[in-house]
Amino acid sequence: MIVPSSIAREQDILKLPVPKRPPRRTSRRIGIHTSIAGGIQNAAERAYRLGCSTLQIFSSSPRQWAPYDLSRPQCAEMRRLRERYDLKPLVIHTNYLINLASTNELFLKKSVEAFRGEVERALDLCADYLVLHPGSFRGANREEGLLRTSAAIAAATQGLDLAKGGLTILIENTAGAEYSLGGSFEQVAEVLQRLRGLVPIAACIDTCHTHVSGYDIVSEKGMREILVQLDATIGLKNVPVWHCNDAKAARGSRLDRHQHVGKGSIGPESFRRLLNDPRLAHAAFIAETPIDEPGDDRRNVATLKKLVAPAS
Ligand SMILES: [Zn+2]
Ligand SMILES: [Zn+2]
Repeated sequence: MIVPSSIAREQDILKLPVPKRPPRRTSRRIGIHTSIAGGIQNAAERAYRLGCSTLQIFSSSPRQWAPYDLSRPQCAEMRRLRERYDLKPLVIHTNYLINLASTNELFLKKSVEAFRGEVERALDLCADYLVLHPGSFRGANREEGLLRTSAAIAAATQGLDLAKGGLTILIENTAGAEYSLGGSFEQVAEVLQRLRGLVPIAACIDTCHTHVSGYDIVSEKGMREILVQLDATIGLKNVPVWHCNDAKAARGSRLDRHQHVGKGSIGPESFRRLLNDPRLAHAAFIAETPIDEPGDDRRNVATLKKLVAPAS
């Protein structure tokens, strides 16, 4: 989860001088969750100046129901800037209030409406991916929760042509806290299976969530096994986006606290393995790291880029 208070401490890169040279390109698409303060199109400008080749944004306040007001010119400008700076894919993260597995009918209705709004805005912005946490099943059991989420996604997207808009919904694996769905690759795969054919759907895997939910992402052998398990359940080709977050908490702690890349309980070598695995070359790698000090966003992008081996 991205902590909003840390976004507030962000040094606004738009106020700094424009870099003289375009950012160094790597063989992997690297980006970071970027602020849309001042208008959605500003995110593209910021991402470019941070050295990114992809970006993730919110299209609504992460903890409020009211969506941001998107005007057509903003969308057109966003498209123009992405083209100019070769920023792709554009990933949108849904707001955190949405719970498509809720057993409270009113809350579920609100969530379905909010999620439909997210899909509509993503289509308006010509986004490639919309990331969704599969929800919390409190008051039911896990199996019912997975059914509810799948049904709610199908209901929320009815009548919207995602395929035509080039938009794919990504189910993100989670830290596996009590009642939360998606704490294992199998659970994410189950949602994917239920929705296949109904709506374009794939997965987003978060390194911090993988680690704190119990997988061994730290050792070389552990990472090898993770990729085997991921391929057997979700399929590596069905993971177009990785969230590259180090973790503050220990493996198996189920505590979702992101740390700067290479500075947490995961460490730099795991990210190096991930970024350079030829089976993941199609994916975009996006940090959702905290901003404790001004410039932390740029440093995390730079760290990820440095870990990508130069193309031979
Ligand atoms: Zn998280
Ligand atoms: Zn994430």
